[in-house]
Amino acid sequence: MEKKLRLILGDQLNSNHSWFSSVHDSVTYLMMEMRQETDYVNHHIQKIVAFFSSMRAFAEQLEKDGHRVIYLYLDDTENQQDLTKNVQAVVKDGGFTTFEYLLPDEYRLDQQLALLQDKLEVEVINHDTEHFLTKREDLDTFFGEKNYLMETFYRNIRKENGWLMGEDGKPEGGKWNYDKENRKALPQDKEVVDPLKFNHDVSDLVKLISSAGIQTIGNVDPQNFIWPKNRNECLELLQFFLQECLVDYGKYQDAMHSDYWSLFHARISFGLNSKMLHPREVVDAAINHYRENNHISLAAIEGFVRQVVGWREFMRGVYWAKMPGYSSLNELENQNPLPAFYWTGETRMECLKHAIRQSLDYAYAHHIQRLMVTGNFALLAGVHPDFVDEWYLGIYIDAIEWVEMTNTRGMSQFADGGIFATKPYISSANYINKMSNYCSGCYYNHKEKHTDSACPFNSLYWYFLIRHHDKLVSNHRMRMMYSRLANMKKSEKSNIVKQAENYLKKIDNL
Ligand code: FAD
Ligand code: SF4
Repeated sequence: MEKKLRLILGDQLNSNHSWFSSVHDSVTYLMMEMRQETDYVNHHIQKIVAFFSSMRAFAEQLEKDGHRVIYLYLDDTENQQDLTKNVQAVVKDGGFTTFEYLLPDEYRLDQQLALLQDKLEVEVINHDTEHFLTKREDLDTFFGEKNYLMETFYRNIRKENGWLMGEDGKPEGGKWNYDKENRKALPQDKEVVDPLKFNHDVSDLVKLISSAGIQTIGNVDPQNFIWPKNRNECLELLQFFLQECLVDYGKYQDAMHSDYWSLFHARISFGLNSKMLHPREVVDAAINHYRENNHISLAAIEGFVRQVVGWREFMRGVYWAKMPGYSSLNELENQNPLPAFYWTGETRMECLKHAIRQSLDYAYAHHIQRLMVTGNFALLAGVHPDFVDEWYLGIYIDAIEWVEMTNTRGMSQFADGGIFATKPYISSANYINKMSNYCSGCYYNHKEKHTDSACPFNSLYWYFLIRHHDKLVSNHRMRMMYSRLANMKKSEKSNIVKQAENYLKKIDNL
């Protein structure tokens, strides 16, 4: 008799997958909590708890629906903590005739599963996860030899799906992009709703992780775990976002504020990346909500759709087009270690202190905190992209390599030399001061470049331009910066270099 074993990885919790549309006695699903996955990088404790809780809830639901499930808990004695070994043992012991898996999103697991095919003496079949709007290879096929451009890819997906499109085939409202109307700082009197938090008791899981000796980063309140742990809660979070935040999303997408850790952001990246939420249902729900609510602007909805349909699918395409070489790119030849305060938040730089502390507390920071505070500083400080990647991959609840590395190494660190980012995302204190209230409470002075209390972002910014002059001066998007540098007095330049070098020397103590 045919006996199928189907593998479900921790980030493949898509209950609407066609696998689950009918129940068969001949099919058993395999899910595993493994040291292989908890240990490939030091993860935030909340990230491990979120994945394990959601996996457990998913397995329980499958069993309730009548499916057969083998679930290996972290402390099961038969758990060998390694995907290859566990699958080999389960296939053999269970007398399975076929092994099926869903195509993983990480290169590491893709390779491991491909190798596993040769080690198993049964038929091996892989399937699509039915999650993304595009296929792994679509971006490469779409652009061919041309440069990858998120905007073109995004427009094509919108056209194909008729999202925010007029009947004439033109974008609704006549424009594809409303960035100019978006991206404002938060006004002083703007009310910000408290983010929806779940309060799960995860004490047992936290104890299990700690007694297993798994090294983690960050903090957790075991009696008040805030992240969703099943699809219904992910949908609740999405609804909360649509009802309470979407209206202000676009406008304050880039704003930062010391009183608020998520502002009007959706916090659905964990739900999406674990596949409990499907991007199509997210976009459909958001557009329906926009249609039913006149007070939501086209700029707000377009800003949101652009992230889910544009950036998310685009980054996945870049990952599959460029791996495995992508993971070792270091165009700017940065070699410095990550400053120690990235692990503690102990720095006098208010913007970094705030972004890092909230990351340690919630395993979350929003896009501009990741890009223009922690990412910006790491780039200005010349940190090796491996260390930057390691930090981002560990600390965020939503960090899976396909989307973490493209954002970190590519968008934030310019380590790929601009495969899709047209210039490095760097800024002096000026931008941070414009978009946040951090500078007003900071030990450093955001206006100064080379006094004792000068903001480190300022001298490091100019020093970055000086150091990478030969590589970047001909980039037309950097022309303004380099012409300002060219017009700078020699003495000013030399003071800036002195200050930057001094700051770099004592970087752990800034
Ligand atoms: P919202 O701002 O509410 O956006 C809605 C959704 O759009 C997100 O949930 C996400 O799925 C998608 N999205 C938005 N921006 C991006 C983007 N640049 N790339 C891909 N999808 C996007 N995102 C991850 O999902 N995992 C990561 O590991 C990750 N690492 C990042 C590292 C750096 C250095 C930077 C600059 C960005 C990173 N991002 C990552 C992208 C982005 O910051 C997060 O997707 C976002 O902050 C998640 O929070 P949210 O759900 O509240 O997002
Ligand atoms: Fe950050 Fe500089 Fe502003 Fe301080 S002054 S918050 S270090 S940008």
